[in-house]
Amino acid sequence: MKKIYWYIICDGKLFLPNGELPCEEFCPVAPAEGMIVFGLGLIDGVPARAVCCQEKLTDLVGLRDAYELLPEKFYKPALVALEKVLWDLNSQRCPVCGGRMDPAGFSSKRCCTCGKPQYTIIAPAAIILIKRKKSALLVRAKNFRGSFYGLVAGFVELGESLEECVVREAYEETGLKLKNLKYFGSQIWPYPNSLMLGFTAESINGDITLQDSELTDAQFFTIDNLPELPRKDSLARKLIDSWIAEQTAASIPQSATPSFSDLEAFKSAAILS
Ligand SMILES: [Zn+2]
Repeated sequence: MKKIYWYIICDGKLFLPNGELPCEEFCPVAPAEGMIVFGLGLIDGVPARAVCCQEKLTDLVGLRDAYELLPEKFYKPALVALEKVLWDLNSQRCPVCGGRMDPAGFSSKRCCTCGKPQYTIIAPAAIILIKRKKSALLVRAKNFRGSFYGLVAGFVELGESLEECVVREAYEETGLKLKNLKYFGSQIWPYPNSLMLGFTAESINGDITLQDSELTDAQFFTIDNLPELPRKDSLARKLIDSWIAEQTAASIPQSATPSFSDLEAFKSAAILS
């Protein structure tokens, strides 16, 4: 019997009976009518599929909480499953004529009445680690859950480049002007259909003017007085950890690392004693 990992999305959450991903030959719940069953590749040689369910289910877990329950190899496909199912759910009807949209490829649909194509939609967002001397700017946003500090972030607006978005968001939220902008990396952000792109930059000015409609606090922190940080899987945390590693390396004085000749001298002295 060939088993399949089933990523069942219901009300934007993942079906995890007993905290585990169902692994069965057939989908354990009835998939929503007219919705696509998406292939998610293989996990340890076992195929994984994403389906939408519109039945009333219990054992539903939000994707952020699922991180605590699922091993990493199961977690990333869950993010992809949510993205795909939400796209399918939100593109059932043609935005031009209201006709039915049929699948027309891996990431596209076509209206069966007027032929309008529709592709998956990704909303890019930028997140920025802003450095100043030996410190980095960490912020508390009103929408953060818990008590951790994160980074300035925001969505790219129409007609704006990523770089322009980074500069605008930093200035709007904190009044800081930036230089030396560098790309760091990216991360799927399916809340609901975003791609988060990470940058580092240095602030030209140090005076923070807080935008209190979005933030409750923003401060420059050094590595020895850091507040609670975001979760390890987040791009924010990867940016912060990378900066901490950079600061830690920079704080080790050159003389503290024994040179080859010092080691040789130490060995000789040890032998002699
Ligand atoms: Zn149409």
